[in-house]
Amino acid sequence: MMLKGFILCVGDELLTGQTLDANSPWLAQELSAQGVTVVGMAVAPDQKDALIDAIRHAAAGADVLIITGGLGPTEDDLTRPAIADLLAVPLVEDATSLRDIEAFFSSLGRRMSDANRVQAALPRGARAIRNTCGTAPGIRARYRDTTIFALPGVPHEMRVMFAQTVIPEIAGAGGACCYATRTLYTHGIGESDLGERIRDLMARGRNPAVGTTAKQGVIGIRIYARGASGEEAQALLDRDARELRGRLGNLIFGADDERLAAAVAGLLREKRRTIATAESCTGGWAAKQLSDIPGSSAYFLSGIVCYSNEAKVNLLGVPREIIERHGAVSAEVAESMALRCRALAASDYALSITGIAGPDGGTPDKPVGLVYIALADAAGCDVSRHLFGEFRTRDEIRERSCTTALNRLRLKLLA
Ligand code: ATP
Repeated sequence: MMLKGFILCVGDELLTGQTLDANSPWLAQELSAQGVTVVGMAVAPDQKDALIDAIRHAAAGADVLIITGGLGPTEDDLTRPAIADLLAVPLVEDATSLRDIEAFFSSLGRRMSDANRVQAALPRGARAIRNTCGTAPGIRARYRDTTIFALPGVPHEMRVMFAQTVIPEIAGAGGACCYATRTLYTHGIGESDLGERIRDLMARGRNPAVGTTAKQGVIGIRIYARGASGEEAQALLDRDARELRGRLGNLIFGADDERLAAAVAGLLREKRRTIATAESCTGGWAAKQLSDIPGSSAYFLSGIVCYSNEAKVNLLGVPREIIERHGAVSAEVAESMALRCRALAASDYALSITGIAGPDGGTPDKPVGLVYIALADAAGCDVSRHLFGEFRTRDEIRERSCTTALNRLRLKLLA
């Protein structure tokens, strides 16, 4: 039997666009991974009648309904009374929840206010879901054929409670069907070219299902395998992952949570090589990514942000004539930046980035989105020229510049 799930987020701040819904995508992935088919998602306002309607509607098509938000202590937190009204039962105080809330406040050296007391109330017959990270306990209730789990809106509280309480209850409940998913990340190929190469694997109705998503030059390939057991799903997934790696080789840089910078860091560490950066238009973003990873001092030596021409001359020692003759955004300046950076840092590799991130500053010869990236090593220096597109935003151009630079270093380390 296939379980159907519905996700309902509550809060005016979501409907006015002030808060971006972080809960639904996360819950959708988690439910899918447990073999629950998510049949719908919705957002309801902080208004009791509308919330009751939304819960009734969501529950109608689902075996499992996850509600997030609206469990706080204030007047506009209405999930608790809405569930009670829907079930036509009163709210009753739960002694254990009250003790937990009091203990939470005393662990912070504070007294629980009367307002928080309402959070210990539960629709009669429902069960409290313990909150180990905050005040609002969740609610587990049955409405007709649906199990409702109401969890706090705060994403990290919701996630912990979902893992502790909901997963054990739904794991395996999806019957004979188990799922395994993995996303492989690529850089250096367009989504349509990639689609051509793996068209057969992406055929509709195939198991595993394979699909692509694109974000700033990084194409993710998601594999979603179903099997009668977890092992079977995993084996199907592994087979596709091997096939994709065989076809795409070095275009793939990582899987799931592995970022490009982490893949580069792994290679630098493994090969005992060091890197330094000299950045103009990216303002230190590549250096940040390289130093985001714990233990980065093993390979990341320094990052110089030389935004102005003066900084390129004074901090790096780029010859002024080169800038005057070719302009700051040029192959010659990128090359000089990388060579000078490597010499100053005494690193194995140096990356430089200089370009026009926009939105102003473009000319017909040098449009917004023109970026030069240079990579220097003991053998010399290679410069590449990129046109990331005038239509892109400043951030997109900067992000693509860093991704391209890091990927060049990755390929060099793999060569
Ligand atoms: P609390 O007891 O902390 O008030 P709650 O269940 O009442 O928990 P809300 O008051 O609805 O939760 O929201 C608490 C915080 O969590 C708010 O800052 C809200 O913007 C944020 N939040 C709520 N729902 C979501 C969501 N779907 N995605 C991201 N953030 C959310």
